[in-house]
Amino acid sequence: MADTRLPRPRKRLGQHFLVDRTALERIADALAPTANDIVVEIGPGRGALTDLLSQRAKRVIAIELDRDLVPYLRDRYRAAGNVDVIERDVLEVNLGDVAGTDFLLAGNVPYYITTPILFHALEPPRPARAVYLVQREVAERIVAPPGSRTYGALSVNVQAVAHAELVARVPAGAFRPPPSVESAVVRLTPRPDPVVDQSIEGEFRTLVQEAFGLRRKQMRRVVRTIAHLGVDAADQVLSTAAIDPEVRPETLSPEDFARLLRAIKGVRVV
Ligand code: SAM
Repeated sequence: MADTRLPRPRKRLGQHFLVDRTALERIADALAPTANDIVVEIGPGRGALTDLLSQRAKRVIAIELDRDLVPYLRDRYRAAGNVDVIERDVLEVNLGDVAGTDFLLAGNVPYYITTPILFHALEPPRPARAVYLVQREVAERIVAPPGSRTYGALSVNVQAVAHAELVARVPAGAFRPPPSVESAVVRLTPRPDPVVDQSIEGEFRTLVQEAFGLRRKQMRRVVRTIAHLGVDAADQVLSTAAIDPEVRPETLSPEDFARLLRAIKGVRVV
């Protein structure tokens, strides 16, 4: 029976509540929390995923922006005693401040801010694992390998710092109300060897965005445009980075972009 204390779903906050038990279990299984783990959950909504996480983890820190859902959630988990509900915009929460340095992350995230949430949660301290339910098209871009049709700036910028896997596809009918798109579960595991140091991650992301803005151009033209260099200087930079001047950005790996950034910075410093 419907719970009459529940507010109606708010479109503005991307509220599509997951009701399919199999999909919920796929997310919890992919995160695989143990009784020693602290889990941060982004957007607990009505608590469908929170239920599973709180049964498996030591503690769940659930961050929910909807002020009408927060009292409902606090009430629902009072007896369980291991769920803290924080009423905030997740993008304004320093995850390290609320969870410490050792935590996992899960979320059926609002689709209107998926990318900002992904990058926000990749700021150190990074979760040991993060599992998200996102739009299927976004999931495919996140995990795409170099050279594939969906490989782009999002793929490079995520894969530069994390190992990304598509865990399961979730149909629109698994939600109430159903969204207009298909969804998928992705798992991100931070790399022990990110391709660039944290101090230059911002520059790396900008370079990658700019390069994919010119995705149909060859790298010689891309470097000339982005770094304001002549042909010879651009070829020198590409040679230093061991990149063929005639390939297109969509064939370069995160490691290639990291070498390119270092080579461009080398030229700028001289
Ligand atoms: N986890 C629930 C489920 O699976 O049924 C709800 C998922 S719903 C797609 C997204 C949730 O994120 C909603 O509860 C929404 O209110 C919340 N939300 C939206 N924007 C948010 C933000 N900026 N910070 C925290 N939560 C947010």
